[in-house]
Amino acid sequence: MDFEEAEDLERLKQQVIEQMLVIGFDEGATSELGEITLGFLRRDATQRHGVTRFHPGVDLKGELGPKNIRRVDLHRELLVAEWRDYGAYVLYHEYCHCLGHPSHGKDFRAIERLWGDDHARKMGRRFTDYLRQRNAVWNWLCPTCKAVHARRKRSNGRYKCRKCDSILVDVANSNLA
Ligand SMILES: [Zn+2]
Ligand SMILES: [Zn+2]
Repeated sequence: MDFEEAEDLERLKQQVIEQMLVIGFDEGATSELGEITLGFLRRDATQRHGVTRFHPGVDLKGELGPKNIRRVDLHRELLVAEWRDYGAYVLYHEYCHCLGHPSHGKDFRAIERLWGDDHARKMGRRFTDYLRQRNAVWNWLCPTCKAVHARRKRSNGRYKCRKCDSILVDVANSNLA
């Protein structure tokens, strides 16, 4: 992580913590969250946008809190202006885990809902699509219905469109409008 990325991550953290104080979280809890090391996921991650990593050997059924967290990793692309609001929501989601809720149970959902930005929450699907598209080198195009599937490899005439049974053709990513 370079200096600029570290600063960017720090700003995102401040944004989330300020919002959490507005929501009503107490300063003790938020300052503990602020101490947790932040990092990045692998560049080619698409499905996972953020991960909370507990210290090894922690009993996930016991009493948990920020002290049990080794680190939180976020997708780098969440720092891009376009995805920042979603990035704030993802970091908040991870902080909800850090506050002692390792799974997405009822207690977790109750806290998570306090964020109140439905728009940011729905952006998850779009962010995954965006990452897939970005990582893709080839688009498999159906010449009949024009459906396009972004993939890492060429299809080499081995795949058919599920809808119209036509053999898909390879189009390099940059050649598609
Ligand atoms: Zn989660
Ligand atoms: Zn088709």
